[in-house]
Formats: sequence, C-alpha cells, structure tokens
Amino acid sequence: ITRYDLIIVGGGPIGLACALEAKEANLSYLILEKGCLVNSLYNYPQNMTFFSSSERLEIGDIPFVTTNPKPKRMEALEYYRRIQQKFALDTHLFEEVLEIKKEDTEFLVSSNKSMYLTKKVIIATGFYDIPMLLNIPGEELPKVRHYYDDPHYYSSQKVIVVGASNSSIDAALETYRKGAQVSLVIRGSEISRRVKYWVKPDIENRIAAGEIDVYYNSHLTEVTPTTAHIQTPDGIVELDNDFVLALTGYRPNFDFLKKIGIDIPQEAPCIPSHNEETMETNIAGIYLAGVVCGGLNTHLWFIENSRIHAKQIIGHIRSTLT
Ligand code: FAD
Repeated sequence: ITRYDLIIVGGGPIGLACALEAKEANLSYLILEKGCLVNSLYNYPQNMTFFSSSERLEIGDIPFVTTNPKPKRMEALEYYRRIQQKFALDTHLFEEVLEIKKEDTEFLVSSNKSMYLTKKVIIATGFYDIPMLLNIPGEELPKVRHYYDDPHYYSSQKVIVVGASNSSIDAALETYRKGAQVSLVIRGSEISRRVKYWVKPDIENRIAAGEIDVYYNSHLTEVTPTTAHIQTPDGIVELDNDFVLALTGYRPNFDFLKKIGIDIPQEAPCIPSHNEETMETNIAGIYLAGVVCGGLNTHLWFIENSRIHAKQIIGHIRSTLT
C-alpha cells in the first residue's frame, strides 16, 4: 500500500492548484480524479465562455494566454492540461474515492481501484456532479436534461429551458439560434443579474422581439412525453414539448462529505464545517478546497477567489508536518 503526505480528491482547477503547491513544498502527493482531467469543465457546454477573464483562472502564477476577452471552455481545458503535463502532476484519472477513514495517525483512502495511506487529505470535489432536481412528475423522462451540451441536437425542437442564470440563458440563446422553438420558465420576475453583462441585452432583446417566449413567476408542474405543464400567475399553461433543459443549478455531494465525517449543518446553505483560515474541517488533517466550500451557496466561490485555498492549506500542512 503506497503512503503519501497528501491525497487530493478531485482533479479540477483547485485540486491542480493544490498539487502545484504541494510539489513546491516537496510533499509527496497524489490527485485522485473520478473522471477525466478537469472533469467538470469537460462537461460544461461545448461552446461555453467563462465569465472570468483568463488571468483570474490562472493557477500557480502560470499565464493563461488567450486572444479572446474571456476564455472559452476549450482554451481552459488546454491550459489546465498543459499545466498537469508540464509539471508532471501525479494524477490518477477515472479513479473515484469512495471512503476515507482515520487509521491511527494516517487516513486510509479507498477508491474504486486501490487503497492508499496518507497523512493529510484535501477534498476539492466541486459541485457539478449532482443537479438540483425539479421534483415533478415526468422528470425521469429522457427528454428532461440537467446538463446542456450542444445546440444542434435541439434544432427544430420545442424546447423549454428552466432557470434565469447563465447556464439557462446561454442554452436558450444557443438553441434558439440553431432553430429551436424556445420557451423560458423563470421562477422569479426577471433574468438574473448575474447573467454575463454582454449576454443579458441579447436575451432581453430576443424576449422583447417575441423570438424567445418567457413565463415569469412560473414553474413546471409536470412533464409528459409530448407536453409540459407550467404553473403561471394566470393559471396552468400546457405546451407541446420535445425537450426540457432544467438548468436549475448543482450542489456538492453532501452524502460523500458526511460519510467522511465532515459536519454539515441542517439549514441552508449547508456550508461544510471548516476553518476559514486553514481550510481544515472538523476532522484534523482533512481540508476543503475550491467551490465545495460554499455548500448550497454555489455563487460564493469561483476559481478566481478559491485558488488561494491551495496556499492556505499547504501552508498549514507544512506547519503541522515539521
Ligand atoms: P471542480 O472543477 O468541479 O472539480 C472537482 C472535481 O472533483 C471534478 O473533476 C470531479 O469529477 C471530481 N470529483 C468529485 N467527486 C470525486 C470523488 N469522490 N473522487 C474523485 N474525484 C471526484 N468559475 C470561475 O471562476 N469563472 C467562471 O467563469 C466560471 N464559469 C462557470 C460556468 C459553469 C457552467 C459552471 C457550472 C461553473 C463555473 N464556474 C466558474 C464555477 C466552477 O465551479 C469553477 O470554475 C471550477 O470548476 C471550480 O473548481 P473546483 O476545482 O473547486 O471544482
């Protein structure tokens, strides 16, 4: 069984930032990533443009060069992959961590492929694996999707997009431009103020021109193979429908965190217990890094403000290991 100073769970941008710091500090470390490298980014919509400019997505002070005002998903994949390869960051891909248990002074980390002993653990598992569900009849139908990939698929189809944030608005505009008939269903009374500043006028103009339908203060109540039922302020509206893109947000895997023994308050936003200076959880030696730290509040942490966790954690680990 291989022993490490540190195991990092999650090979997203922040897991990689932690590995760069660990390498710099001469710690023996391993990243375990259940999917491909930067799996969440890989699963973002194909044409996605970040709201952050590229220097704010940088890790380890390595320049992220782009000629675009804001980088695209493909460029970010390239950037993080080049870093992982250039610095030969020790990474096991397609290896999911299932359990972490305290064994005397170390932790036993069990994955779907192997077991490891380590002095410290960083959990950098993000929040993109588990979608927020609508909890309505018909949600299990294959035409209801919680991830959106590419617009071509929806060409000539009647598509309902649920939500008013960046993911929903991007999907509504893209599918509309590839010939889908799009209806937006929005719980509140307006498009979210967080929508990228260069995208917001576009969606507002498409709505004003009647090119994209919108139902404000409304929610879906049921989906059938051919229809969707919307509760609106004027009563139930039944629409003919081919696909529902329910892009209503994502949440961290709380079951996984609880299984490890990390305390999570019952009340929203269910922020997993951690010290804000050291990022150590209620279990000494287990740390949280990246967007997982926000619990249900997935607008609290981004790459740009959570990449600092890597320095905080490795600084603390160094002070405790020596
Ligand atoms: P993630 O990138 O989610 O990485 C977590 C990794 O852990 C994943 O690769 C996952 O596969 C892996 N994992 C999970 N569980 C396990 C397990 N049990 N074992 C092993 N591996 C596991 N942020 C910005 O700063 N700027 C932006 O412009 C921006 N745009 C965004 C757009 C979209 C559509 C979304 C959804 C988010 C965006 N964000 C943005 C926020 C985003 O969450 C972060 O950019 C980034 O992905 C967070 O990095 P992370 O390393 O904390 O988590």
